[in-house]
Amino acid sequence: MTHLNKKQRLENLTVNHLDDLHDDLVITILRKLSSSASSPADFLSVLITCKRLNRLGLHPLVLSRAGTQTLAVTADKWSDSAHKFLKRCVNAGNIDACFALGMIRFYCLQNPVSGASLMARAAIKSHAPALYSLSVIQFNGSGGTKSDKNLRAGVALCARSAYLGHVDALRELGHCLQDGYGVPRDVSEGRRLLIQANARELACSLRAYLSLKTGNETVTDLASCGGGGGIIPVQEIHPVNRFLKDWFDSGRIVLAEGLRMCSHGGCGRPETRSHEFRRCSVCGKVNYCSRGCQALDWRAKHKMECTPLDLWVAAAAAVEFGDGDGEAVAIENHAAR
Ligand SMILES: [Zn+2]
Ligand SMILES: [Zn+2]
Repeated sequence: MTHLNKKQRLENLTVNHLDDLHDDLVITILRKLSSSASSPADFLSVLITCKRLNRLGLHPLVLSRAGTQTLAVTADKWSDSAHKFLKRCVNAGNIDACFALGMIRFYCLQNPVSGASLMARAAIKSHAPALYSLSVIQFNGSGGTKSDKNLRAGVALCARSAYLGHVDALRELGHCLQDGYGVPRDVSEGRRLLIQANARELACSLRAYLSLKTGNETVTDLASCGGGGGIIPVQEIHPVNRFLKDWFDSGRIVLAEGLRMCSHGGCGRPETRSHEFRRCSVCGKVNYCSRGCQALDWRAKHKMECTPLDLWVAAAAAVEFGDGDGEAVAIENHAAR
């Protein structure tokens, strides 16, 4: 072994040991790769290596395990082959792919029926983000008319997602309980859920911060903590939300006249009909798909931007002329969110 001459060493280097491996073993290795790749390119670069790796890499056993980052096709790389790749993963029974392609079809490709059906396939298998997205769709009657809003269905889906630990769903359910929206009002239970959502979010932030400190770059974004003065890691945006945001920001598709995007930067959902989303009752300049997005954006930046100058002028005039202080109360209530 140690006494190979130069010719033997060269022969050894040119032998393709991959051919010696049984298909089952290669599939096991590719399954591991598809579940842990850090981007679609990481995985796809293996598929273009040779015909055998291409055939085995597209095996349903491999595609069913493709992880969130492997499926994280970006808006600028969207193509028929990207669509086909996600469809193959869906057909292999990958529920993350059902959710991602469902969101893309529902909001970007204007195919709400197929999009909702794909998300439902993931939701049936207890996929928390799919359950939460379907709840937002039910709350807003997205893809239909105002009369298609189904608050009780929205709360039921949201509760299921919250039970599975989805932070946005916990927050949404907390606000629904506090406001009595689609569910009997229960302020203390709503507050309990909001505290739980904040605690989970803080734990995520701390985990991400510690990973960042130890050099493991899992955090993609940093933002200043409003009013706190420090720099904290922000919860990572799900790749599909980033896809939605980039898709519409790129101008690839222009939203129909009068339709607006959710103003929360980490959401990316557009309206599917005019006046679908709730508007900030103070400034009227921002729109949100959900109570959760409104609360997050308020905390992150809108409380610094919300300038109800017209209401302040009206309130000042009312005080000057000895009128009531209704608007001032509205501003204070909003600020207390
Ligand atoms: Zn939103
Ligand atoms: Zn505002």
